[in-house]
Parts: sequence; structure tokens; C-alpha cells
Amino acid sequence: MSLPADYHLHTPLCRHAVGEPTEYAARALALGLREIGFSDHSPMPREDFDHWRMFAGQLDEYVEMVRRAQREHPSLTVRLALEVDFLPGQEDWIRELAGRHAWDYFIGSEHYVSPPWAIDDPGMRAEWEKHDPAEVWSAYCERLTQAAASGLFDILGHIDLPKKFGFRPPGDSTRLFAGLMAAARRKGVAIELNTGGLRKDCQEIYPAGPLLELAFREGVAITFGSDAHAVAEVGLGLAQAVDLARHAGYTHCCRFARRRRETVAF
Ligand SMILES: [Zn+2]
Ligand SMILES: [Zn+2]
Repeated sequence: MSLPADYHLHTPLCRHAVGEPTEYAARALALGLREIGFSDHSPMPREDFDHWRMFAGQLDEYVEMVRRAQREHPSLTVRLALEVDFLPGQEDWIRELAGRHAWDYFIGSEHYVSPPWAIDDPGMRAEWEKHDPAEVWSAYCERLTQAAASGLFDILGHIDLPKKFGFRPPGDSTRLFAGLMAAARRKGVAIELNTGGLRKDCQEIYPAGPLLELAFREGVAITFGSDAHAVAEVGLGLAQAVDLARHAGYTHCCRFARRRRETVAF
């Protein structure tokens, strides 16, 4: 069985990943993957917003790096995408980005609940101690639900990211995510199985099993991604993610080309 497409790969332009896209592509082929997608952190209108994303002036360079990976590995399908932070008020900026290149998909992610605190930034972990985790989870879910409803995204990234450092949602997490799943279903937005969580303190794929089962019951589509920030991380954990998806009931996932969705068996 070949692995599904790895749709969540970063590049050195985000300033915290290593390895050229063409090296990621070579690794993917060595693993037997047939399709990958680069979804590096999108630029913000303000270049000093944070320190872990490309600048707007680097978008063309980014696209060329991905095109080169495709040219040098013609037997692999290489998608061009972005992982975009959804911040209220930036809808026009996201639309502008969408118009700049022939993107295959946008992953909408929430790393910020109240900027400048990035909830998944190891350097800001102490900030968690100053907040009530229940409030963070609830504000996070509300924001991600807005992202799902905005129509700006094809996929939602690592939907239970606040668990990264072990701060779990209080009580029944499926209740917290009910509105999000409904919005994703209504707008035809997929969620990803992101194996990056396996390499973090939470030691668990995003999303957790019960959330994925809820997504399946609600008819929400899925994609797969390693969130690789290094060549050795390409495809990592995808076999485990496939097992999790099958256990939740899934037999199909999505592919994207020019922001059009296709459903395929995995
Ligand atoms: Zn992310
Ligand atoms: Zn990522």
C-alpha cells in the first residue's frame, strides 16, 4: 500500500526549517510517495509580525523553489500551497495572497489566539501558565470555526494544536469542536491528520481519535501531512495516521489541484 499524499511540508524560507524542497521531494520518492505539497507559513502584511515565516517579497522565490522540486522529480506530483494564519481583519490580505499565484490549496491554521502569543511556540510556553487553558481552548475553537466559515481555506491545519505542550481541553473535547465540524462540513473544508504532534510533548497525531471520529460522523473530509521541517521528517508517521483514519471510519481522503478538490481512496 502506498502512503497518501503528504500535504504539509515547510521550507527554509520560514526560518525554522532546513533542507531544500527538491531534497524533500527526493526523500518522498524514496519512501514511495506519489504526491506531496509544500505549505510553508504565509507572509503577514507586517514583516515584523513574528520571526517564523517568509516575507511577502519572497513569495516568488518560494514558488520557484517548489517548481524546481517538481521539475527535478517529474514522477512525483508536487503541489504548491501555503499554511495561512487566520487573524480577523486579514481576510483581504489572504484574498490578495490567493490571487498572486496558482496555488493548489490553502491550509488555514491558528497559531495565535491573542497575538503576539503563539500558543505552539516553545519560546512562549511559559505564557500558558498565565492563562486558563479552558479559556484558551474555547477562544481557539471559536477562531478556527471562523476560519472554517470564512471560505478562504481548503484544509484546516492541526485542529487541536493547543494540546501540543500537554494542556488538554477540559471535559469532553468533542463538544468543544461541534461548531467547527458543522462549519467545515457546510463549507466543504477538509481537516488534516498532522503527524507533527507525534514528535511533540503531546505525542499524538492532530487531531486526537475522538475528534477524528466526530469529523467522520459529521462528514468532514481529510488530508494527511507530516508538518516536516526537515528532510528526515517527510512522510513521518503517515502510516500511523492512515491507521487512525481507518479506525475512525475513513476510506477516502482529498487531493487538491488549483484549489479544486478530488476524493480518492487511500
Ligand atoms: Zn502550523
Ligand atoms: Zn506547519
